[in-house]
Amino acid sequence: MSKKPFLTKAEAENIIKRFPTPFHIYDERAIRQNARDLNKAFSWNKGFREYFAVKATPNPTILKILKEEGCGTDCSSYTELFMSKKCGFEAPYIMFSSNDTPPDEFKYADSIGAIINLDDITHIETLEKACGIPETVCCRYNPGGTFSISTTIMDNPGEAKYGMTKEQIIEAYKTLKSKGAKKFGIHSFLASNTTTNEYYPTLAKILFELIVEIKEKTGIEISFINLSGGVGVPYDPDKEPNDIFAIGEGVHKVFDEILVPAGLGNASIYTELGRFMLAPYGHLVTTVIHEKHIHKDYIGVDACAVNLMRPAMYGAYHHITVLGKEDCECDHTYDVTGSLCENNDKFAVDRKLPKIDIGDILVIHDTGAHGFSMGYNYNGRLKSNELLLREDGSVVEIRRAETPEDYFSTLEGYWDIIR
Ligand SMILES: *Cc1c(COP(=O)(O)O)cnc(C)c1O
Repeated sequence: MSKKPFLTKAEAENIIKRFPTPFHIYDERAIRQNARDLNKAFSWNKGFREYFAVKATPNPTILKILKEEGCGTDCSSYTELFMSKKCGFEAPYIMFSSNDTPPDEFKYADSIGAIINLDDITHIETLEKACGIPETVCCRYNPGGTFSISTTIMDNPGEAKYGMTKEQIIEAYKTLKSKGAKKFGIHSFLASNTTTNEYYPTLAKILFELIVEIKEKTGIEISFINLSGGVGVPYDPDKEPNDIFAIGEGVHKVFDEILVPAGLGNASIYTELGRFMLAPYGHLVTTVIHEKHIHKDYIGVDACAVNLMRPAMYGAYHHITVLGKEDCECDHTYDVTGSLCENNDKFAVDRKLPKIDIGDILVIHDTGAHGFSMGYNYNGRLKSNELLLREDGSVVEIRRAETPEDYFSTLEGYWDIIR
């Protein structure tokens, strides 16, 4: 299989006349279609709701598109909560799934009607002191050990800082109830970027069995199950994408097997997807500005890890298309690099690509989530703008690029420096 960009070379050239590279661009039509598919896949569950993980793509225009598609937001900090509020999200459309949470943020989350998801049993006291115990509250579960699907180890919850043990979470629900909480949720995030349709159903089974046990032991009925994030996307063109309809049906099946017979068939399923909602629908577009031939062949582009950190940080694969050379043979081997004074600032290492020339436009794929948002300012490099390809084919700027003034603006006396 191959990955096809949502822009042709001619379209990209047109955009570049108005907005020079590098930039991030998102495909509104595809974002909406994917959100509709997710909602349809879970339409068997009356209370289903996706809370988009804001950290993946914290842009108000994107949040508003998802809002129109019926989604809420999942936040983990004051600024994400504030952005959600300003975008018009209200209770019960904001989830606050934070950890190591400053008490003031509980207070703010509560004041805007966010559902608070407690990461630790000690946070009950913090929350109570900050704003009192709300009527609706969620707790995060960490089963420990390793998390496997069939015989494959997917991840290592025993090493993860998140959530409460089983004993703690049962204790937490009892305490919260005694302090006046009336409606309870459970949340767990056990594996990231999974490319199997079995992840959600496997996680759902663990959580469903636990809430049946909680009901039997304490009489407390959990009314929503937050499966959180973790449904992945195929960054590699050889990998199959997840089938959201198969995932929805997989969760439906365990719901009918476990929750319905236990009298918990009214429970709502929530998700907090970030990557799955946005990653494939964003491109980082960058122009080749140098080539260099020493012990290896390097292609230097005008973007760097400041614009997309995943390859530098995790060695993550992001597919690259050379616009206009889609059908050329990939008979050259290159490292594609940015300008940071860090040797890991490479979008690709030993990548087979067509012969590249200075001035070629590259599309770096699957940058719609955890792309722009992970950016930083190392080497004084500035973050790019973000563009939106609208459904009618027009392109609008939804965040301007940083300027040197922005970079200096937090310094004392910065005007003296930039003058
Ligand atoms: C990061 C995160 C998500 C989203 O994860 P994706 O892998 O982008 O789907 C959801 N919930 C929580 C609590 C997270 O930390």
